[in-house]
Amino acid sequence: MARILVIGGGFFGMYLADHFARQGFSVRLVEKEDRFMSRASFVNQARVHNGYHYPRSVLTALRSRISFPRFVEEFRECVDAEFQMYYMIGRPLGKETGKQFAEFCSRIGGYCESAPERIRKLTNPSLIEACFSTVEYAFDSVKLCDLMKQRLGDSGVTVSLSTQAVSVAQEGDGLRIELSAGEDRETVNADHVYNCTYSRINQILESSSLPFVPLKHEMTEICLVEIPEALRKTGITVMCGPFFSVMPFPAAALHSFSHVRYTPHYEWSDGTGRDYKDSHAVHAQAPRHSAWNYMWKDAARYMPILGECQYRRSIWEVKTVLPPQRVRRFATNSLPSQLPSKRLSCDHGRQDRQCVRCYRGCG
Ligand SMILES: Cc1cc2nc3c(=O)[nH]c(=O)nc-3n(C[C@H](O)[C@H](O)[C@H](O)COP(=O)(O)OP(=O)(O)OC[C@H]3O[C@@H](n4cnc5c(N)ncnc54)[C@H](O)[C@@H]3O)c2cc1C
Repeated sequence: MARILVIGGGFFGMYLADHFARQGFSVRLVEKEDRFMSRASFVNQARVHNGYHYPRSVLTALRSRISFPRFVEEFRECVDAEFQMYYMIGRPLGKETGKQFAEFCSRIGGYCESAPERIRKLTNPSLIEACFSTVEYAFDSVKLCDLMKQRLGDSGVTVSLSTQAVSVAQEGDGLRIELSAGEDRETVNADHVYNCTYSRINQILESSSLPFVPLKHEMTEICLVEIPEALRKTGITVMCGPFFSVMPFPAAALHSFSHVRYTPHYEWSDGTGRDYKDSHAVHAQAPRHSAWNYMWKDAARYMPILGECQYRRSIWEVKTVLPPQRVRRFATNSLPSQLPSKRLSCDHGRQDRQCVRCYRGCG
């Protein structure tokens, strides 16, 4: 029976580990932190994407549209569907018009109707050109984590928390992995290793002397707020430019507040050797000066009622992306040939698009 090691106990790693264990493989999952899903799988907007977010990439939008019902079906008890999501079109800085957005929704088959008068009346018409009612949900990452932990137990995955994979090397027909847990060191062997460490994918590649994935990172801040009563069962996303988004964050019974301009605080790309920065170390040392004041003041220009939001706290995480110009080249030819015996795989995608290996929908 093939032995599989999954590195990283975020949603992707947990899902993948469970998937393989259910197919009868011997699976071990190692997670650096002392609990599962505490990093990007918790610190995000919690949006179950349904395509609307990607008017300039129909392919991505359609992938989201396909995965949305599957995710909602599989994780029904972890999904908040009890709110109304409105997509609004900002101007004059918006890159799309309301007409273009409506046409895009029609192309991808996404529900999109003019928003009710009571919502439109809350907006500043000189800055919001159009408002649409759409269908989009939020996931509860705490419930998702509990469900995944239960699944891992049921499927017999061996789990090790507070355990870090340090490096991976070829050994005979298989792979040798060095693990560290505090002062303790352990060497394990596996036939396949899945690197599900999101912002730290290159950390393992770096210490294993393997070629990098060309990743870019952003230090991001999501503000958690109490929203005015009139908007309690509401999510709002203003497209398509330097605007904001506010939507339920079920794991904290608050709303998340993010802003295209102010959520990313700074960015960097992975360099090799001495230029390489461990994203978790950057995160641990990063100064945390909230941009909340900028976010709400800007948002209140578009919807004055948002000036009444009560700030509670911020959550911070490194957001990792494959720069767009690298996606095609990287996806088509680099990965398999660069990895040893094609046995070390790097998964990188969005929660709503599910796992590379399971749903084959990831970007
Ligand atoms: C600000 C922000 C907003 C976002 N909004 C959305 C959204 O609305 N909807 C959506 O679908 N997606 C969103 N995303 C993206 C989404 O959060 C990620 O795609 C998803 O959480 C990645 O899951 P993961 O399991 O790959 O990563 P993670 O949850 O980060 O899991 C990786 C795990 O690997 C562990 N790890 C790292 N190195 C090692 C090691 N050497 N050994 C062992 N373990 C290790 C880490 O501790 C971590 O727990 C957002 C992301 C950010 C940052």
